[in-house]
Amino acid sequence: MKDIQPLESWSVVKNGGPIAIAGPCSAESEEQLMETCRQITEEIDITMLRAGIWKPRTRPGSFEGIGEEGLKWFANVKKELNMPITTEVANAQHVELALKYGADVLWIGARSTVNPFTIQEIADALKGVDVPVMIKNPINPDLALWKGAIERIYGAGIRQIAGIHRGFSSFEKTKYRNVPMWKLAIALKTELPNLPLICDPSHIGGTRDLIYPVSQKAIDLDFDGLMIETHRDPDNAWSDASQQVTPKRLAEILNEVKIRKSTTDAEEVNNKLDDLRSKIDRLDTELLDVMSQRMSVVNEIGDYKRENNLTVFQAGRWIDIFQNRPEQAEKLGIGKSFMEQLFKLIHDESIRVQTKVVNTEKA
Ligand code: PEP
Ligand code: MN
Repeated sequence: MKDIQPLESWSVVKNGGPIAIAGPCSAESEEQLMETCRQITEEIDITMLRAGIWKPRTRPGSFEGIGEEGLKWFANVKKELNMPITTEVANAQHVELALKYGADVLWIGARSTVNPFTIQEIADALKGVDVPVMIKNPINPDLALWKGAIERIYGAGIRQIAGIHRGFSSFEKTKYRNVPMWKLAIALKTELPNLPLICDPSHIGGTRDLIYPVSQKAIDLDFDGLMIETHRDPDNAWSDASQQVTPKRLAEILNEVKIRKSTTDAEEVNNKLDDLRSKIDRLDTELLDVMSQRMSVVNEIGDYKRENNLTVFQAGRWIDIFQNRPEQAEKLGIGKSFMEQLFKLIHDESIRVQTKVVNTEKA
């Protein structure tokens, strides 16, 4: 999938840099949609407007979206404000209708990404169509499922694809509505380096106060854009009320987020970075050297234990190391749980190495 196109190739993306997508969670009435979108465009320059037309709700009885009628309103918004629009599609009919009413970009929701039948149906409906598609991560933290959905849409011939990171649901209560698990998004980016990644801080945070910090974190991690749910009257929104912000607050957030670049042309900055990187390289070499010395001692101790008929694993000693090292580390300003994990790995490897010697000898 090396030929997935960058965001700059999308006709709706006018300027480089991170893009911004905003609009209500759901289209509720013609007036609510138009007013919200108008206020957004008056407050700040964004890339496209979003609105949910069909809403996948966890439990029945909630507002499930306005349906086709909402697409007519959205088409009016597009015309009146001269702005690109995007909406969620969850089946072939949604694709057909969204395109009929002029959606410039489509997105696939988290509850659809989990289902390969649904994704294949959408992919089949997209064959021969030239429209960018944004694919949200599945609600469960399964990288293969996210990648599989991207592959199916790619298989339909779409090359303008982006991922949307909206966090992952968890049984445990956390401060997030959907825990970010940034490492999954980073893993996706590592496997598909040219896939643009957009962050949805609204669904990650679930509350208004988390939208700014989550947005900044995403930009720090080199995300290519943000999708933020915005409503003219968030408290009275028909869906996701607690996580929507006013157009005014949206503008504040987008203005406050510090944009960071992944590279720079400034010679002075690059020289300093080179300097620091060679320091890190030197330290890593020392680290590896120390680790290799430690492993030789481990081998030696393994031989010695065997000669003296002692077990390889000695719980007392291990508990000692496991307690001491993280405490020592903490005093040096290094994260305790990081050191606990590192020493667990080192210990596992020591046991493996020592028992391997025994096996070889027996053989
Ligand atoms: C949405 O963007 O309104 C939405 C339903 O999101 P998700 O699929 O991430 O839950
Ligand atoms: Mn929503």
